[in-house]
Amino acid sequence: MKGLDTKAVNTWCLGCGNFSILNAMKSVLASFVDEGLPVENVVLVSGIGCHAKIVDYVNVNSFYSLHGRVIPPATGIKIANPALKVIGHSGDGDAYGEGLEHLIFAAKRNVDMTVIIHNNRVYGLTTGQYTPTSPYGYKGRSTPSGAKEMPINPMDLLLASGATFLARGTSHGIELLKKIFREAILHKGFSLVDVLQVCVTYCNLYEYYDKRVYELSGHNPYDYASAEAKIREWDYNKDGKIALGVFYKKEAPVFEDSFNVKKMPIDERRRKVEATVKGRP
Ligand code: SF4
Repeated sequence: MKGLDTKAVNTWCLGCGNFSILNAMKSVLASFVDEGLPVENVVLVSGIGCHAKIVDYVNVNSFYSLHGRVIPPATGIKIANPALKVIGHSGDGDAYGEGLEHLIFAAKRNVDMTVIIHNNRVYGLTTGQYTPTSPYGYKGRSTPSGAKEMPINPMDLLLASGATFLARGTSHGIELLKKIFREAILHKGFSLVDVLQVCVTYCNLYEYYDKRVYELSGHNPYDYASAEAKIREWDYNKDGKIALGVFYKKEAPVFEDSFNVKKMPIDERRRKVEATVKGRP
């Protein structure tokens, strides 16, 4: 992957779906670099959880944020320098639990960033508590008798919130993941990819997904009503077919264009940063 590897020791469990996301991400970034995108123009932001370690494993600029707080720093980075490709990685507990309001507002504002959700439907790092997308009846450390809540359908929520690109993949389909990641990152506006990322240790759904997933074909992602219908086909609980691919796409003005960001030469920017660090204005 041409210099995108790091020396950090990978601590994910063997078989974790995060490996597919990592490999797909590195492959897509490598293709962008081959096409002339300076690697320093890419910034990864992560939250807290097993997903978050991805920033340790990809050799690009990155920011390891707080729990549920991928969106605020990612938005700040984008506004400060709109030329950067900002890619957030977040977990289902991180983004759909703690960070849900931030996610809704990023979609509403159409911030030009990509958010990739490692949706394993469990809090893996803290050893198996239920999350907003855990199946009804999920048995884990916090719900030994089974979760008593229905999961949310995050795609439905984000469609209603104004997201301009919505897609879904699985960690058992790396070629599709690469295709979707590339399209999402190239999309001008807020793009979200929900990856059904299997946690082999606390919520192993490989067999369940393999029997049900299919790739969208003949679907018009520019049609809101069709996107909504496809998104509602599976509610993250019922035993139906699970569509993968791009559900929705729309062109719309992006948030950062509404700011008059002063383009500062790099030397001036460095001087200001050094002065700030030394405590001078
Ligand atoms: S606990 Fe689950 S999500 Fe975390 S590394 Fe292990 S398999 Fe992956």
